[in-house]
Amino acid sequence: MQTRKIDTSILFKNATIVDPFKEEIYEADLLIEKGKISKIDRDIPDKEVREKVNLKGFYIAPGFVDLHVHFREPGYENSETIETGCRAALAGGFTQVCCMPNTDPAIDTRETVRFIYEKAEKELVNVYPIAAITKERKGDELTEMVELAEAGAVAFSDDGSPLSNSQILRYALEYSKITGKPIINHSEDPGLKGDGIINEGIVSTQLGIPGNPGIAEEVMIARDLKIAEFVKARMHVPHVSTAGSVELIRQAKARGIAVTAEVTPHHFSLTDEYMRSFNANGKVAPPLRTEADRQALIAGLKDGTIDAIATDHAPHVVDAKETSLDLAAYGLIGLETAFALALTHLVHPKLLTLMELVKLLTTKPAALMQLPLSEIKIGTDANFTIFNINEWWVFGAQNIYSKSHNSPFIGNEFTGRVKGVFTKSHYTSI
Ligand SMILES: [Zn+2]
Repeated sequence: MQTRKIDTSILFKNATIVDPFKEEIYEADLLIEKGKISKIDRDIPDKEVREKVNLKGFYIAPGFVDLHVHFREPGYENSETIETGCRAALAGGFTQVCCMPNTDPAIDTRETVRFIYEKAEKELVNVYPIAAITKERKGDELTEMVELAEAGAVAFSDDGSPLSNSQILRYALEYSKITGKPIINHSEDPGLKGDGIINEGIVSTQLGIPGNPGIAEEVMIARDLKIAEFVKARMHVPHVSTAGSVELIRQAKARGIAVTAEVTPHHFSLTDEYMRSFNANGKVAPPLRTEADRQALIAGLKDGTIDAIATDHAPHVVDAKETSLDLAAYGLIGLETAFALALTHLVHPKLLTLMELVKLLTTKPAALMQLPLSEIKIGTDANFTIFNINEWWVFGAQNIYSKSHNSPFIGNEFTGRVKGVFTKSHYTSI
């Protein structure tokens, strides 16, 4: 990966532009001057341009948005920092990410919200903090949500820890109507989850590993939707993993509840069959589910029940993963592989169109988190991702820019990959 500042002008020739705003795909040249798009045309003369890049066969779309990452700073800088997380984001084509507050200290004060913005200021990726719903994410006392929203928190979540106390969730949803920011609850009923490690089903029984049933997720989503409907507030469901959850959200949307939802690339590309490898990089919360669940998640992405693809990028140091399955930490890194997984498992098998995928990575997540998103049009700040859809490649450790390497996809074959990013007057080729 190489990044250069472009002080004057650069001309991208023969690109295929995917415009999710107008829902158009067309070929054009793109002239960037002083960081802004100054011309989009069929054949822009290159006489006075300092530099030109031929993008014949490549696509351009607005910079991707990931509304769920863990950058581990402050507190766990040996797994990831904002700086290394931003490099991983850039390598994956993401120029805007929202980071979860399960740091140490948690993002539960005005100061920590500001700390994230200050740390990220010099990065090419915009990092937006999601603040905790409860103090220290303990689940029993609400944070100063209005103050945190004023300081720049884009949403609220105790991600990693489910909100068990329904009254706390009710109050949080009441406050979210004042702040206008969504509430994101990690939906996993602790009692039903018990000591479950992988999905409860045939695989867990055959392997003799404690199972975490799909109803642990569904029971809590059902409760949350009821409360959101009662309070009339906005709620976002993270990392949906079961067919039952998709159906609950589909019905809630049909009833007019203001709910949005996300699915991770690992849940739409892997199943609990992966756990037969005993590889702890497949240990995630919620767990990898069955093939029927995976199919239902994809149907939800297709019909609009699911609003976004979000990575839940969760870096862990080697020691946290190279241990027995029961002791290993939950989570995997996902920024570098998200787009290639989506092309390989969704677009090439014709389950989603390229336009549908681009929307799930750009306009849809940006809208639900109310983030600015640069359109590819004259006069806007140039902020876009360059990719091809047909390059065959094998994902390896050399493609990881995160500080941690806990990916179950090392050695996987992909078709299509991110090749570059232009943002904040910098051109990065990958
Ligand atoms: Zn998470």
